[in-house]
Amino acid sequence: MSIIAIDLDGTLLTTNHEISQENIEAIKQAQKSGNKVVIATGRAHEDARQIIKQTGLSLPIISANGATIHSPEGTELFSSVISSKEADRIIPWLEKNNYYYELTCKNGIYTQKTGKEILEQEMKEISEEKHPLIQYAYDTQMTQAGVVQFDTYQTIHEDERRIYKIFILTFDEEKRRVGWERLSEMSELTIVYSSKYNLELHNPESSKGKALQYISKLLDSDLDVSMAVGDSGNDLSMFEVVSNSYAMENADDTIKSHTTSTTTTNETHGVAKAIEEFLGKR
Ligand code: CA
Repeated sequence: MSIIAIDLDGTLLTTNHEISQENIEAIKQAQKSGNKVVIATGRAHEDARQIIKQTGLSLPIISANGATIHSPEGTELFSSVISSKEADRIIPWLEKNNYYYELTCKNGIYTQKTGKEILEQEMKEISEEKHPLIQYAYDTQMTQAGVVQFDTYQTIHEDERRIYKIFILTFDEEKRRVGWERLSEMSELTIVYSSKYNLELHNPESSKGKALQYISKLLDSDLDVSMAVGDSGNDLSMFEVVSNSYAMENADDTIKSHTTSTTTTNETHGVAKAIEEFLGKR
C-alpha cells in the first residue's frame, strides 16, 4: 500500500488558505484506489484539524513538523517534545532579543501578548519594498485556531509547557540570520523553515520524514511506492524517504533540486496534478 503525504501551506492550501475542489476530489480518488493520504504540516494539530474538517475529508495528520501524529479521529499516536532544559535556554533569549515566537503545545499555540506589535513594527520598517509574502506570512499566523496569549514564558504553568515546536517569525533578514546562527550554537534542536521569514525548532528525533516512517509501519505500507508533495525546507526530510517526491512550482529552486518531479502551483491544484501523475504511474 502507498502513502501520499501532503504539506498544507504553499502546497494543498491556496494563498487564501483554502483547499480547492479539484484537490479534494483527487484525494478522495486516491483513497478510493486504496492509498493512504496523510497530511504533513508544520502547523499545530488542532489548527490543521480545523482546516481538514471543513473539507469533509478524513485523514491522519502529521503536525508540528513531525513532533505529533494523530489519527483521523484525533487520537494522538505519537509525540516528541522539546526538553525543558532547551526551552529554558532558548525562549528567554528570544524574548530578550525581541523575536516574535510561538510555542506549539499540547493544549494549543502559545504566543506572547506583545508578539503582534513586534511583527507590525517590523512590517512598518520595511514598508517601502513590502513583499506580498510578508502580509501572507503575517495573516497566516494571525488566523490560526487555538491561540493562547501570555506575558512571558515564565508565566506559563509548568504542566502546560509540553512544547512540540518553537516557531519564530521575523521580516528582518539580518535578525533571522542572527537568530539562526545563535540558536544553532546554543541548542541541540533541529532547525528548519517553511518560509523565508521563519525558523522552526523541534526535537531532533522528530521530522516530517521520520513521522512518515513511523506512520508507514503503523499502516503497514511501503515508502518505496509512496509519494510526498511540498514546497519548503521542512519537507526535505520526507522527500528523502519516499520514492516519488514532488516540489510545487511555487517552491524555490533549492527545494526543486531535491525532488524527483515538479508539479504546478498551489493556486492551480498542484496537489491534484501530482496525485494524478503518481497514480497514473502504477
Ligand atoms: Ca509548506
